[in-house]
Amino acid sequence: MTEALSKYLEAGRIAARLKDEAARIVAVGVPLLEVCERLESMTVELGGKPAFPVNIGVNEVTAHYTSPAGDPQTIPEDSMVKVDVGVHVDGYIADTAVTLTLNHEYDGLVSSAEEALLRATEALRPGVKVSEIGAVIERAIMRSGHRPVRNLMGHRIERYRLHTGKSLPNVSGIEGGIVEEGEVYAVEPFSTLQEAAGFVQDTAETYIFRYNREKRLRSRDAAELLDRIKQQHRFLPFASRWLRPTSPASSLDQAFRELVKERCIVPYRVLVEASGRPVSQAEHTVLVEKDGCRVIT
Ligand code: MN
Ligand code: MN
Repeated sequence: MTEALSKYLEAGRIAARLKDEAARIVAVGVPLLEVCERLESMTVELGGKPAFPVNIGVNEVTAHYTSPAGDPQTIPEDSMVKVDVGVHVDGYIADTAVTLTLNHEYDGLVSSAEEALLRATEALRPGVKVSEIGAVIERAIMRSGHRPVRNLMGHRIERYRLHTGKSLPNVSGIEGGIVEEGEVYAVEPFSTLQEAAGFVQDTAETYIFRYNREKRLRSRDAAELLDRIKQQHRFLPFASRWLRPTSPASSLDQAFRELVKERCIVPYRVLVEASGRPVSQAEHTVLVEKDGCRVIT
């Protein structure tokens, strides 16, 4: 076994255990911050590092939400909760998500994303067009009486790069190349209700960022903060919450604002389903092998 393969498998094992833990701790009234922090600290206890902050998406909140420091939100009654975790071992990333439901009315919506993920991983092999994977996902979700979220996609993963190169659409009709042996993909169907708009839109909320570019900065605090971000996270996404414990709040806020303004770091906006309908997600990271793909999460 190559070193890269064993590190992918280790990252995948850790990520899978985080999903089990998420299922154990998500319950009505639990603070979202507690879920994020518990899973992130468990990542380190198990020998990995977070590849991105734990994303927790309640109902129509579809992606890119992580608790800010002091987040007062708790898990609401009758909700559906997506927990999306990323683990890396020496830069080899596993990205996986589970949807937990506190309302059995949503069971069908949750299983539609899971079924689509299963079908997509069965179809994913060298030589298949990425457009074909989109068609497989769309078919599975429509068959269950639901609607795929059309503007979110799976993605290729490379060492220390979470989203790179080819994308895997969740609907038919989107061309984007051919799957090749040796590639790593995160496959992630999102499913919503039939009557929903079926796409996500940006909000103004931003809790997750990543390094973008170098620039001469006016303040020394900002330059030091950018250095620290580069060293600790490279191009991987990080939570603004993670910067808290090591910098005094006021100067940190100012430095942080300067980095955003100069586009040295860029935000991931929280994405919500455009018609406010609940969204389910299922995600695995897979390695494309000779005759198919290996699910590592
Ligand atoms: Mn993910
Ligand atoms: Mn992903």
